[in-house]
Amino acid sequence: MKQKIAALFHQVHGRAPTFITRAPGRIEFIGNHTDYNGGTVLGASIDRDVWVAVAPRTDGLRRFYSDYSGKVVELSAAVIEKQTGEASWINYPLGVLAALLVFKLQAPQGFDYVAVSDLPTGAGLSSSAAIELASGLAFLALTEQHPDRETLVKIGKHAENHFVGVPCGILDQGVSGFGKKDHLVFIDCKGPHFDTVPLPGSANFWIFNTHTKHALVDGLYAARHRECMEAAKALGVGLLVEATSAQVEAAKTVLSGNAYKRAKHVVDEIARVDEAVAVLKTGELDKVGHLLTASHRSSQHLFENSTPELDFLVDRLAATLNVHGARLTGGGFGGAVMALTSPAFGDAQAQAVAADYAAKFGARPDILHMKTGDGAERV
Ligand code: ADP
Ligand code: MG
Repeated sequence: MKQKIAALFHQVHGRAPTFITRAPGRIEFIGNHTDYNGGTVLGASIDRDVWVAVAPRTDGLRRFYSDYSGKVVELSAAVIEKQTGEASWINYPLGVLAALLVFKLQAPQGFDYVAVSDLPTGAGLSSSAAIELASGLAFLALTEQHPDRETLVKIGKHAENHFVGVPCGILDQGVSGFGKKDHLVFIDCKGPHFDTVPLPGSANFWIFNTHTKHALVDGLYAARHRECMEAAKALGVGLLVEATSAQVEAAKTVLSGNAYKRAKHVVDEIARVDEAVAVLKTGELDKVGHLLTASHRSSQHLFENSTPELDFLVDRLAATLNVHGARLTGGGFGGAVMALTSPAFGDAQAQAVAADYAAKFGARPDILHMKTGDGAERV
C-alpha cells in the first residue's frame, strides 16, 4: 500500500509525498449503546486502513485527491467551509483542519493530499474515523507538532461531530487511535480512558453486512438515547453506568416497561464488557464468544435495536462449528453482524451462511474477513 499511495501521489501531483500515514477501521466488539450512558466498550482495530500522503505547498492551495472520488478538489487555505455533492468527502480532512484550531494547534497552510483505502466505506467499519485520524497525523507531520494520542483521537471525533455533523461516540476514533495488533481497545467512555487488552492471535473476525437500514434509524437512535436518560433519572442517577443491577430490578415496578428493558440492557452490557476483559486474560475465546452472543440477545429482546435479518445471521452463526459467538455490531436497526471465529472457520462456511440468508431474505450479505491490526501511525 505504501508503494501504491506513493505512486498515485506522483501521478496526481507530479512529485513524491513528504509524509505517509495510515489509520485502521474498527469493529465494535462488545458494549452496545453503552458509550453515551457513561459505560465501557471493547473495540478491535482491524487490518484494513485508510492511507494518507501529503506534501507541503508554498502557494496557499490545498489540493485533495482520493481514490474514493477520483477527482482533485482545490481550495484556498483561507477556506474551511463545509462542502456538498461530489466534494463532500473532503469534509473529513477539512473538519480535522478546523478541529486542530479548536485544540489550539496549528493547521498546515497549502499542501497536496492523497487518500487511498482498502476499508469499505459505509459498512460500519468506521472508514470515517480512519480518514480523520490518518489526515490528522499527516497534518501534524506537516506542521511538526506532536500532541498525545488522546488529543489526536479527540480531534478526529470533534471533526466528525461538529464539522461533518455525525454524533458518533468515542469508540470509532478511540479504537483507530489506540488499536494494537492482537489486542482489543478498552474504553471507559466517561473519562474517556483508553487501554488495550491482549486477544489471542487465533481470533478471526467475519463481518456479514446486510445493507439493510431501518427507515427511521435516526429517530430510533434518538428515542433510545432519550429512554436511557429517562431511566437514569427515574433511578436517581446521572447516567445508567452509575446504576446497579439490583437497583434496576428493585425499580422494575416503578419504571415503564421500556425504561426497565433499556436500563437492564445497558447495566448488563457494561457487566458483560467487564466480564469479557476478565475472560480474555484466560484466552478462552469460546467463553468470550458466549458473552458476544448474550450481548446480541440483550439487543434483540431488551434494547430492541435488532432486526429479523440480524437475528437470523446470529442464530445461524451461533449454531455453526468454529464460531465462538456472534452479535450485531454498531448501532443496530440493520447493518452488520460480526462473528468471532477460530481460524478453522473459512470462506466455504461463510458462503454457506450467506446462501441461507439469501434464501430467506432474497439478497446476499457482503462478507468480510479480517484480523486485528495496529492503530494510527506515521509510516
Ligand atoms: P463508515 O464510517 O461506517 O465507513 P461513514 O458514512 O461514517 O461510514 O463514512 C464514510 C464516508 O467517509 C465516505 O462517504 C467518505 O465521505 C469518507 N471516506 C471514507 N474513506 C475515505 C477515503 N478513503 N477517501 C475519501 N473519503 C473517504
Ligand atoms: Mg463513520
